[in-house]
Amino acid sequence: MTSIRVTVWNEFRHEKQHERVIAVYPDGIHTVIGDGLKAHGVESVRYATLDEPEHGLTAEVLAETDVLLWWGHMAHGDVQDEIVERVAARVLDGMGLIVLHSGHYSKIFKRLMGTSCDLKWREMGERERVWCVNPAHPIAEGLPDYFEIPHHEMYGEPFGIPEPDTLVFVNWFQGGEVFRGGCCFLRGRGKIFYFSPGHETHPIYFQPEIRQVIANAVHWAAPTNGPRIFVENRKEPIEPIS
Ligand code: ZN
Repeated sequence: MTSIRVTVWNEFRHEKQHERVIAVYPDGIHTVIGDGLKAHGVESVRYATLDEPEHGLTAEVLAETDVLLWWGHMAHGDVQDEIVERVAARVLDGMGLIVLHSGHYSKIFKRLMGTSCDLKWREMGERERVWCVNPAHPIAEGLPDYFEIPHHEMYGEPFGIPEPDTLVFVNWFQGGEVFRGGCCFLRGRGKIFYFSPGHETHPIYFQPEIRQVIANAVHWAAPTNGPRIFVENRKEPIEPIS
């Protein structure tokens, strides 16, 4: 059990419009991600979705969130810039952020990366092999050296991100491409993990290894009590300066 307070944010549009997605996630991708976290002892899970007022991400909700998960795809442009800035400020002040799959193109991820976040993709339901390249990392705990996703969308390099602070997974695809599928970034006091699996037409978030990675990532990204970052004109030196 953990006292980490998690908010799972989901765009929640595909699951209302597309039969192939409704068949996999009738109650929304967010609820399945939340079920996986609860099965791993994360008791405090709340949900927020795009079409709620303030996208469900009020200042109060964010103040009570230790780690925010983000799944979005078809409506990145509908996310208000003001809310993006609010989330970014919370991350820089210590809230963990886990960006999933097509969230690579979300406003919040691009805002915090500062790069294009472009990638290659192909939707043919091919096999994906997720290789752990950093077995000592907390996000790799309890995982084998590789696991497979039977059918997934290909994401391929080069991925337009800044160099990750730590790389945990590199993913191979049946069609031949590779992708940095599990990347850690430190921004201000906050920790960010990007994890690429999670296309909406495949039951990715039911898979035990995926659930393990996300639960591990929640623990890794939870706030730590490092010094606050603020702008200050330090007129008084600590030691006398002669
Ligand atoms: Zn996708």
